[in-house]
Formats: sequence, C-alpha cells, structure tokens
Amino acid sequence: MKLKFLGAAKTVTGSNFYLSGKSTNMMVDYGMFQGKPEEVGMNSVKPEIEFVNLSAVLITHAHLDHCGRLPMLVNYGFKGPIFMTEATKALMDLVLTDSAKLAREEEAKAVLYTDDEVVEVLKQIKTVEYDKPFMVGEFKVTFLDAGHILGSSSILIEENATGKTIVFSGDLGNTPEPLLLPTEMVKKADMAIMESTYGDEFHGRREEIEDLKKIIQKAEREKGVVLIPSFSIERAQELLFIFDQLKKEGDMAQETPVFLDSPMAIKATQVFRDYPELYSKRLQLQVKSDDPFDFPGLMVCDSIEKSKQIKNYDGTKVIVAGSGMMSGGRVIHHAINYLGDSRTQLVIVGYQAEGTLGREILDGNKRINIWGNSIDIKAEVLEIKTMSAHADQGQLLDWLKKIGGLKEVALVHGEDLARLVLGEKIHLELPDVKVILPIVNQEIEI
Ligand SMILES: [Zn+2]
Repeated sequence: MKLKFLGAAKTVTGSNFYLSGKSTNMMVDYGMFQGKPEEVGMNSVKPEIEFVNLSAVLITHAHLDHCGRLPMLVNYGFKGPIFMTEATKALMDLVLTDSAKLAREEEAKAVLYTDDEVVEVLKQIKTVEYDKPFMVGEFKVTFLDAGHILGSSSILIEENATGKTIVFSGDLGNTPEPLLLPTEMVKKADMAIMESTYGDEFHGRREEIEDLKKIIQKAEREKGVVLIPSFSIERAQELLFIFDQLKKEGDMAQETPVFLDSPMAIKATQVFRDYPELYSKRLQLQVKSDDPFDFPGLMVCDSIEKSKQIKNYDGTKVIVAGSGMMSGGRVIHHAINYLGDSRTQLVIVGYQAEGTLGREILDGNKRINIWGNSIDIKAEVLEIKTMSAHADQGQLLDWLKKIGGLKEVALVHGEDLARLVLGEKIHLELPDVKVILPIVNQEIEI
C-alpha cells in the first residue's frame, strides 16, 4: 500500500488522502482548504493523481474541510462510487449547496463548482452503515462512529492479501458529549492517520451549561445581547439543547428570546430530527417525550427579513448565527451592530482558524474592520472550549492507546505547534509507535 498526503498535512483544512494498492486506488476525503489566502488558493489546484484510475472515494463526515471539493470530481471525470453514511449524505447536501451559493455571492471567493455539479456528485453517493464491512477491490472497508458530528466516521481499511490495516480517524469527537453516541474505538491497526486539531490543548471539565447559565443571567440583568457565532451542524443543535434545559430548569427567563439566525442551522436541525438512532442514550430517552431543539422564546429566522427584525427587539436577547468563525454569514451584521456595546457578550464556542475574524477577536484585537466599518470592540469576549466538537490531547491519546498492534501514526489536520506537542507526547507515552508529521504531497509506503 502507498499513501499520499494531498491535504490537511501541515494545515488544518483540505483533508485529502490517496491510498493505492495493487489494483485499487481510493481517495479518503476531498475537503476544502479554508482560512489563509495561500491555502484557499490550493482549492483550484487539481491533485496529481489519475482520476480515471480512481476506484472509490470515502468521506468521513459532512464538514466542508472534509467534503467541500467533491463536486469538482464531476469535472475531473470521476464516475465511481462515493461512500459515506446516510446522515453524512443528508448534511453534505446542505453543506455543498450552501458553499456553491456563498461562492457565487461573495466576490472574494473563487467559484469552484456549480449547483448542477453538486446535484451530479450526489448521484454517485453510496450510503453505508457503521460496523458493516464492505469490499472495494482488494480492500475491506469499515466505517466506525467517530462521535464528532452526526454521521461522522473513522474509516478502517484492510488490505486483503497482507492483512495490513490503516485507520483514518476523520475528526474525533469530544467524547462523551450530550447529543451523540461515544467515539467508537479501533481494536487493531498497523497505521493510524490521526487528526491533531487540539493536540496541544485540554478542554477541561465540561461545564458549558453552567457557563452559559452565568452568561445568560448576566445578560438578563444588564439587558445585554449574547452573540454566539456558531457552526450550523452540531454546535447550533447543542446550543438549542442547552437553552431548552436552562428554560426547563428555570435558569433562563421563559421570555428571553433566542434567535436562531442561520438558514443552514435550521435545516441541519431538521436533519438531526431525522436520525434519532444516532443520538446519545440520554437524548434517545428525552426525545420520546420532548423536542430537545425547541422551547418557548425560540425564534427561527428563516428569511433575511426576520434576521433584520432582530435589532427591533429591545432588551436581553440571544443570537445564534453563522458562520462559526465569523468569516461571513449573518453573524457579521450582528457583529457590526453589537460588538461596540459593553453589555454585549460575544461567546466563542468552536474552533477559530488562523486568518478568520473570529480568531482575530479571540486573539485580543480590539479594533477590527468589517466591510469597511471600523469597530472598537467593547463587548466582553468569552470562550467556552468544552463545547468543541474535537477531541483534546487526552482524548486523542486515549483513542490511539486503544489501537492494538499500532506501529505508526501520521498526525494530520493540525497547525504545526499542535502536531509537534502531540508528537512529543506520543513519543513519551507510546515509545514503540513511530510518529510522522507529513507535508503536502509526501508519499509513504505502508
Ligand atoms: Zn469536522
């Protein structure tokens, strides 16, 4: 087996790997590069592989940095199957359609594909179930629940003739978490390709409900705005789930409005409702008698008009809006309206990549420029790290230690510092496992 790292190697985004055997070639993930301009430019570069010889594509999950370039395969002449779970397909449909629309609307973004190509590529999808192995040429492929977002997978691939096994972690979840089943561990593999987004961090004890309770109660006292830039998938549903709980417990006023101002998040919440079998045990119980994503005061802003009306509501309000890293979307208008007000609390609940507005604010920049508006940030900037959908250093090490017979690990999907720190830690705790930090276009023999 040969493995080529085509993306997410020395960068966090653009997940893309090429695995070739005797007669079968597969690609794992075909994600978009996001963040820094030099990385974004890599999106339009065709990988140096023979697409006509590609047997299949396997997709770990519906985040854009793992599946965002898929429609480009139509143009490259790939006609084979694209394997993923059913929930990933449902979410990916939303994600790709939205990404094609955003690229059309925002001049700064390169148009990588059309709506028609999105429709075409969806036709090539074959859905798979967790823990049910299937063959692609000489490879036996098994999808495991990664516990990261709904439908997310780690992918285990075994070469039939040699029994050599490689596992792609995909993104690993911050497990156990309230909405999803725990991350499934891998019993045995020779090599692991592991994400390292938070390889240098610990999230700490999960206290996000308590944290949000304090934030909301402060806003209620001061009649302030709580602005939460949120990813549409998982984070938004988790926030709704928490507000539902706070209101039930009487920790948040029934009349305090929560505006869900993200068309994508509204649609993704519907997809969540369609797959209760993927919920955590506790949530499976709760949905029997209650909708965990609905509560008094929830205002769903499914049109621009409703979004604009938010500013007419005086007093305390909570606004959950996309995009999650403030790199566009409706959150930008709210940032312009409210970040200059000292009563506003800006709550960061997800990963902020280098080069994004969210990261700039989180790094302490007090004067920012949004669409030509210079804004002095007077809002309080808070971060709730425990709400991350990613495993932290401890959880990554735990996942790795449980793999029997592991000889080698390649750390991907992390910025340099995170990979170095995690690599050192693995050296110490698993001295027999060889660690590699691949760069783009590096090829290794397995
Ligand atoms: Zn992800």
